[in-house]
Amino acid sequence: MLSDVPLELRLSRLTVQSLRNLCDTQNVEGYSGLLKEELVEHLLDAIDEEVLMDFCAAQEEIYFVENMAKAIKWSASRKIVQLAPDSDDSIVNATFTLRRSDGYEVYNIRFVNQTTEDIATSCECLECREKGYFCPHQMAVLVKSVANNLFAIEDWAGPMTAEAEDLINANVLRKRWR
Ligand SMILES: [Zn+2]
Repeated sequence: MLSDVPLELRLSRLTVQSLRNLCDTQNVEGYSGLLKEELVEHLLDAIDEEVLMDFCAAQEEIYFVENMAKAIKWSASRKIVQLAPDSDDSIVNATFTLRRSDGYEVYNIRFVNQTTEDIATSCECLECREKGYFCPHQMAVLVKSVANNLFAIEDWAGPMTAEAEDLINANVLRKRWR
């Protein structure tokens, strides 16, 4: 999966619990009572960069597949994910609208050059803007774009995992052939 996010940010967006678990499994001491920011510094000092990167990659893969499952459900709803009618294989503009108990969550999502090396994707949510995640709202737009034949999943140049691609193929492409 693509990841140009700095290691410090990749660690700091994980939960404190998962960082503590990493300390446990790596026999790192002196972490109890540390705040998250201090905990991240402590890990960067105590553990090899490669081990930390592998750990982040594994956590990110879990995030990706869990959220892709949600995104597939959302993408099937015309109310939740709306693609601008002039969206095509070079640009997609979309709106994500989800009703919550206390109101609506609304985000604008944009994909540019999604089948080339110049791909750029964005969402207005905090997960994307502050944590650098390819968030579930973008995933829902990706699934909807593929379902609407804007481009093929094989041609998508953005973040993907083998497991998530299987999920999309099983849930979205199958419906198209019915
Ligand atoms: Zn988002």
